[in-house]
Amino acid sequence: VNYIWESIEIMILMWGILFWENPEDSQQELKQALKKKEFVLFYQPKIDVKTKQIVGMEALIRWHHPKKGLLSPIEFIPLAEKTGLIVPIGNWALKEACWQNIKWQQEGHPPLRVAVNISPKQLAPDLVQTIKDILEETGLSSECLEIEVTEGMLIELKDSTKTIIEEIRKLGVTVSLDDFGTGYSNIQYLQSFHVDSLKIDRSFIQNIETSPINQRLAEIITQMAHSLNLSVVAEGVETKEQYDFLQSIHCDEIQGYYVGKPASVKEFSTLFFSQTRP
Ligand code: C2E
Ligand code: CA
Ligand code: CA
Ligand code: CA
Repeated sequence: VNYIWESIEIMILMWGILFWENPEDSQQELKQALKKKEFVLFYQPKIDVKTKQIVGMEALIRWHHPKKGLLSPIEFIPLAEKTGLIVPIGNWALKEACWQNIKWQQEGHPPLRVAVNISPKQLAPDLVQTIKDILEETGLSSECLEIEVTEGMLIELKDSTKTIIEEIRKLGVTVSLDDFGTGYSNIQYLQSFHVDSLKIDRSFIQNIETSPINQRLAEIITQMAHSLNLSVVAEGVETKEQYDFLQSIHCDEIQGYYVGKPASVKEFSTLFFSQTRP
């Protein structure tokens, strides 16, 4: 009888080791991941609608988890934000994207703008100095860096946030308002936060062929943005129909699977830096 109980106990223990995920363990793992260099950036191209030329790329983080494989940011960014680890992780992403961009330029590719996502916790006064230091260290020209902040981050209309964004723009770095249309999309934000471009959220683009309301909204957002001297990027463009519609309403830049999925550095170079592009 003892033997059976012991076997059961061992089985339960092994089950626990295999499948039990302790939140503190995940946090520890996330912390270690940076040290162990398990994060990678993928890059997704942005295309100028008129010239169809690549004008930049967005850096999107992935986690090469030793056991779980390649993890998407939606699987670990929330924990990173909750624990504050997003600050060192986000700073790593900024630096890595700048290094990669300068490397591509040194290989002879034309200078492009790399966009890096910034989380609300990073949008603190330190960020300005961090960006300055990274630009200096990498030698990347400030016009080749863009940061993407979400509309939700600006909701409180805090003066401190406004100052940080102004100082970042003074460095020559462009600022883009991400996921536009999903928050309280308010003209007031655009008047008080000077940004360079708006990214129309994928949810408006997804079914744009069949939704007259979304067509109208995309058109209005574009006209409004242009009247404020902002450029407009559409994200999540998957089909030619979507592309053609966005071109017809004078959207400036396109990003989405239609042009290219986020790709590793190697894949990105072969797909988008060779002459034969779609
Ligand atoms: P996001 O900034 O809105 O990025 C766009 C997301 O849409 C990316 O997902 C991209 O892969 C996906 N996407 C692009 N084109 C298409 C398309 O045509 N169709 C569809 N279905 N999806 C498309 P991803 O890479 O999984 O990133 C998810 C989110 O994670 C990002 O949303 C961003 O908010 C966050 N994120 C990614 N990298 C970073 C980072 O370095 N720092 C921070 N703070 N957040 C990041
Ligand atoms: Ca983004
Ligand atoms: Ca977005
Ligand atoms: Ca989005």
